[in-house]
Amino acid sequence: MIIDFHNHLSPPVSPYRMPAGAYLDAMDEAGVDKVVILGKDYGFAGDNRDDNLSDDDTAQFVRAHPDRFIGFTAVHPDRAIDVNLDRIARAVSQFGLRGIKLNPASGFYPNDERLYPVYGKAMALGLPVVIHMGIKPPSEGSRLKYCNPIYIDDIAVDFPELKLVIAHAAYPWVEELIMAGLYAPNVSVDISTLNQIEDALGYPVVLPALKMLVQSLGANRILFGSDGIFNMAPIISAVRQADFLTDSDRELIFYKNAQKLLSLS
Ligand SMILES: [Zn+2]
Repeated sequence: MIIDFHNHLSPPVSPYRMPAGAYLDAMDEAGVDKVVILGKDYGFAGDNRDDNLSDDDTAQFVRAHPDRFIGFTAVHPDRAIDVNLDRIARAVSQFGLRGIKLNPASGFYPNDERLYPVYGKAMALGLPVVIHMGIKPPSEGSRLKYCNPIYIDDIAVDFPELKLVIAHAAYPWVEELIMAGLYAPNVSVDISTLNQIEDALGYPVVLPALKMLVQSLGANRILFGSDGIFNMAPIISAVRQADFLTDSDRELIFYKNAQKLLSLS
C-alpha cells in the first residue's frame, strides 16, 4: 500500500490540467493506491493569474474516484479571517475535503497571526495542515524568505495538538526543520520533490535528507509524497533502496503515517 501525501491538480484553465484517468494510470503504474490532491491559494495574485483552485473544483475531481483521491482545501492570510474560516467549514461539510494547504512563498510567514484562527479550527476539526517549506515554487512572485522552517516552531509550540506536515523536508533547511520538530511530536515531514531538487543541484539530496530525518525525528513522522503524478517512481525507489530503513520504517513512510493523519482505517 502506498499513499502519496503531496500531489496537485492544475487549475481548469492551465494547459497542464490532466483528467482523472491520467492520474489513475500513473498511480497504477507506480503502485500508488491513493493520492492527496492539495488545495491551492496564492492569494489575490493567484486570483489575478487564475492560479488558484476552488474547493468545488477539487471536490468534483476527487469525488469521481473517492477510493483513490483525497482532497484538501487551501487558504491565504491576506483574505479576511471569516472568509478563511467559512471556506474551511464548507470544505469539510459540503465538499468532503480532509485537510488544509498553505503556501507561504506567496507572501506570508507561517506564524502569521492572521492564521492563528485557521490553526485553531484545523486543530478542533482534526485536519492536517500541509505547509510548503524550503525550495520555493516556480510561480511568479514567490519569495524564498517565507519558506524557512524556523517559524514552524511558533505554530508547534502554540498548537501542540495540530497535525502539521512540513512539505519538501524544508530543503535545504532540513536541520532547522529537525530543530523545530524535535520536541514537537505533532510535526511530520513530507519528502516530496527531493529527487527533483537533487537533479537540479547535482549532488545527493534524497537519501542524506531522509537519513537525517529518520535518525532524528523517527520514521513515524515521515510521509511519502511526490509533488506530481509523473514524479512518483523516483522517490518510491529511493525509499525502497535506502539501506538504513527497516521494512516497518517503509510501511510507516509509505502509508501508515498518512492513514493516521487522515484518520483512515
Ligand atoms: Zn507541491
